Amino acid sequence: MAAACQEVATGCMVTKMQRLNSQYRVLPPEGVLMTENPAIYALREAVVHFGDPQRPVLQRISLEIPRGQFLTVVGPSGCGKSTLLRVLAGLQSLSGGQLERSSGESAMPTRGASGAELRAGFVFQQPALLPWRTAMQNLRLPLELGSGAAGEGQAAEAGEERLLGLLEQVGLSRADAGKRPGQLSGGMQMRLSLARALVRDPQVLLLDEPFAVVDDFLRMKLQDSLRALHDARGLTTILVTHNLQEAAYLSDRVVVLQPSPRGLSADLSVRRSRLSPAERRRAPEQFEFLQQLSAALFPS
Ligand code: ADP
Ligand code: MG
Repeated sequence: MAAACQEVATGCMVTKMQRLNSQYRVLPPEGVLMTENPAIYALREAVVHFGDPQRPVLQRISLEIPRGQFLTVVGPSGCGKSTLLRVLAGLQSLSGGQLERSSGESAMPTRGASGAELRAGFVFQQPALLPWRTAMQNLRLPLELGSGAAGEGQAAEAGEERLLGLLEQVGLSRADAGKRPGQLSGGMQMRLSLARALVRDPQVLLLDEPFAVVDDFLRMKLQDSLRALHDARGLTTILVTHNLQEAAYLSDRVVVLQPSPRGLSADLSVRRSRLSPAERRRAPEQFEFLQQLSAALFPS
């Protein structure tokens, strides 16, 4: 599904953007991204400032994200990546412009930052687990805090079996369910954090530098788990990372965000042929893509 969405998106974007080669497009000065296939998010001329309208963090950002896409946002520190993610999550309101969110389950998209019908899971850099609760109890937390009738319904449905299955999906074992975070390694804590983001069966997964503090070996395993979850669950995934190799390896599409007023400066499609994870990591396309990404971030 992700590949299909990407192809449609790419086809439409070509009409709007200068085509440099098969993968790399530079946005027009106004930085408008347009796609014609169903978008789960449509951000139009979005502006965010924190008090001073003359110094917006996000300035006229327009971006459509099709259902099923794995989109990664890269850019220098402080350019507004986390702010953009928080806008999409509905945690940060816009100072100007518009955000439409659609789960695809209702005829009309939701305007503004409410987006009640679109379920999103959020994963942060730190696992943010409650140390006195077991893994299973941490997993139940979003259901206990669930909003309104939908949350209560899900809590009732969330049988032990389903939650144990979720632990297994992220690479933990049933035996881990009774352990407290202090008894789990850093990688296992991150896996639990990922499972917790999936507990309410989200359509969208938003991740803000989730693997920044783990070592390279663990990072690679977590990356494989994340992409497998994205594919198996038909998620729309939006990842913020500093790691260009991670962006190249995981994504269907990478956008480059530059500090305001430049905003989105490049939009790159990643060719994803059917390769095993090990093959993909050493595929020539990966290195070519990394070069394109580096050129987009650091133009000579
Ligand atoms: P990035 O994730 O790309 O490093 P952020 O989105 O975290 O960037 O922050 C972009 C800018 O916005 C920074 O200068 C940061 O200090 C500022 N900022 C972010 N959130 C707030 C806030 N709640 N209040 C004031 N300034 C903020
Ligand atoms: Mg950030």
